[in-house]
Amino acid sequence: MLIAPALQPAHHQAFFSCADQTVASPFTALPIAIGSAGAFLAGYGVDGAILGAVGGVALRAFQALVLEQTVPFTYRRHTVVLPVGIELLMGDLTFKQQIGQYEQAGRVLPQNASESQLVRKIADRIIDAVQKQYGGGYQKHIPDFKWSITVVNDKTPNAFVLPGGKIVVFTGLIKLLDGREDLLAAVIGHEVAHAVARHSGEKLSVQLAVTIALNVGLAALQFYRNRQQQQSGRQQQGWGSQQQRRGGYGNQRYRGMGGGGGPGGLLFSPQVVSLFANLFLQLPFSRRAEAEADLIGLKLMALAGYDPKAAPDTFRKLGQAEQSMRAAMGGNLGALQCTHPRSETRVQLLEEELQNMREVGDAALSRVVHKVPYWML
Ligand SMILES: [Zn+2]
Repeated sequence: MLIAPALQPAHHQAFFSCADQTVASPFTALPIAIGSAGAFLAGYGVDGAILGAVGGVALRAFQALVLEQTVPFTYRRHTVVLPVGIELLMGDLTFKQQIGQYEQAGRVLPQNASESQLVRKIADRIIDAVQKQYGGGYQKHIPDFKWSITVVNDKTPNAFVLPGGKIVVFTGLIKLLDGREDLLAAVIGHEVAHAVARHSGEKLSVQLAVTIALNVGLAALQFYRNRQQQQSGRQQQGWGSQQQRRGGYGNQRYRGMGGGGGPGGLLFSPQVVSLFANLFLQLPFSRRAEAEADLIGLKLMALAGYDPKAAPDTFRKLGQAEQSMRAAMGGNLGALQCTHPRSETRVQLLEEELQNMREVGDAALSRVVHKVPYWML
């Protein structure tokens, strides 16, 4: 996806000294932390924490050796749990469903329409560049892609890509960019970059990991509480009633999760958990993916023979269009809720990367010089 804003410019840090050094994922320590915290909370004290940490290290090793991949061009390490086949299947299903709706409404442009031909011409050049597998990293999924270009008659200036390389462009975007090839190439480059970087697979993996981690955490917390209750019960009643304690565990499990069971219950209420997950995970994750797609897209358009200097203009125009759309709707989305970095941030990032490309020369075509920040608005 392309449009939506946010708040203040992120701090950027240039790096280009170490040729093939990878960038660590912020989730690197997560399995270890979960393992230790889970065991500790489960009431096994220091021994349990050590056991948990060992389990966590094993989990982390599995993640690093089996599940982690390097994103082409940025060399960021990310975890993708699902095999590419499932990603392709999901992309296919979503595509059929969404395009089916547009087709029924008679809004899908024929392949021989001038807009379709224009977009396909640009996409072909960019996809050709992708096939040459510049940028290193993990690209084994790319030969499995079945690229397709669809132009939909819709005045919203937007475009999106579905897993497996299904690119959809709205006519409103072509109009906003005056049908200019170089400006459109920045958008197509951005969409192709999402597919190359497997952002949808990564997002699903993070959601899966968070769901599992939350459930493990909640179960451990509940287990810990039950043990405490059992211990206080034991002090009151002596050592006789083991049977009763077992029954008690089953009955009390998950009590308080819905927000009614004291401070822990409130903290772990679904609303609070989803608020935190959104603020600290989903939004920064999504914004970083957008920024990463902008920067990889910049490389792809350059590799396809387009002038990358056009890219900041594209995002300036998109930013202006978005502002007037929001003004017309009479509201502000609220910077904290935006899934995209605001357009000023994106333009600044692109300008800085272009400056780096001028300084570094050809080597900067196959590598994003900037470190893509996780926290940005
Ligand atoms: Zn996007």
